[in-house]
Amino acid sequence: MALMLSMTLTRPTARTLDAIDRPVPEPAPDQILVRVRACGVCRTDLHVVDGELPDTTIPIVPGHEIVGVVERVGRDVAGLAPGDRVGIPWLGYACGVCEYCRSGRENLCRQARFTGYQIDGGYAEFALADARFAFTLPPEYDDVHAAPLLCAGLIGYRSYRMAGSGRRLGIYGFGAAAHIIAQVAVHEGREVFAFTSPGDTAAQDLARTLGAAWAGASTEAPPEPLDAAIIFAPVGRLVPEALSRVVPGGVVVCAGIHMSDIPSFPYRLLWEERSVRSVANLTRQDARDFLALASRIRPRTHVQPYALSDANAALTDLREGRVHGAAVLVPTSQNLHK
Ligand SMILES: [Zn+2]
Ligand SMILES: [Zn+2]
Repeated sequence: MALMLSMTLTRPTARTLDAIDRPVPEPAPDQILVRVRACGVCRTDLHVVDGELPDTTIPIVPGHEIVGVVERVGRDVAGLAPGDRVGIPWLGYACGVCEYCRSGRENLCRQARFTGYQIDGGYAEFALADARFAFTLPPEYDDVHAAPLLCAGLIGYRSYRMAGSGRRLGIYGFGAAAHIIAQVAVHEGREVFAFTSPGDTAAQDLARTLGAAWAGASTEAPPEPLDAAIIFAPVGRLVPEALSRVVPGGVVVCAGIHMSDIPSFPYRLLWEERSVRSVANLTRQDARDFLALASRIRPRTHVQPYALSDANAALTDLREGRVHGAAVLVPTSQNLHK
């Protein structure tokens, strides 16, 4: 029986992954088996590994930005064949029949299951996926550079759309999602104001390189008031901070799956029709829309590759703010390329 390396969370809140050899799984009738070529490291993976999310399946292989090549297909799979390159995102299953699913909101399906959270993900040499939740990727991107499109890009784009069409867009937390979405916003003629942790000049430099009109610390006032703000950092105190920077009618979008508690704040920050909303997960339509857009405007993804076996180092670097752009795991049997 063929074995594969998987980096596995074996206990809740273990905060570290174990390298485990396990049998290469067999696809069920509606599944594909994918040989992983690259898997992005998302902040959500940190929340899974740190035990900050409820309902995590244990043991679990994290990773929901999977770029791979189809190795085998289940007998009911149509439209995919061995050798095809696919991307596998966070949404791994939705029921298709509930009210949410039938109204274009499968991201909110109560039966939904998520890759690298309830379904084993891409921190392994092989992964299984429901063929209906796998996507063809823009050929303009190589495997490593395509990986961040699958969550940072997709969920970042859903958050961006929820921010409306105002010209001046603030982005709090300039990591993987922000660095992609800033390019989309600039391409569409918006002005981007990038807020980082105080002193994170590397992230501020990256933001300016990608076309941000201004970059500074999250505690600073932008040179102009914002029409909307997206918060990618998991920091609750940024909610009143961002609200204080948006104009009347402005929106603050919380894009992460987890955030520290939001401190109480005076009603005047919300008054005048400002709003706060969260964005949860993605729909397959979001994926199709964003991947088509990416193919057209080609936002560059800045990647920091790590060997699959160094997944814990990648997570630690992300936790400690040492990743600029996106960390991506690459199985060591393949070439690391930047
Ligand atoms: Zn459903
Ligand atoms: Zn993610």
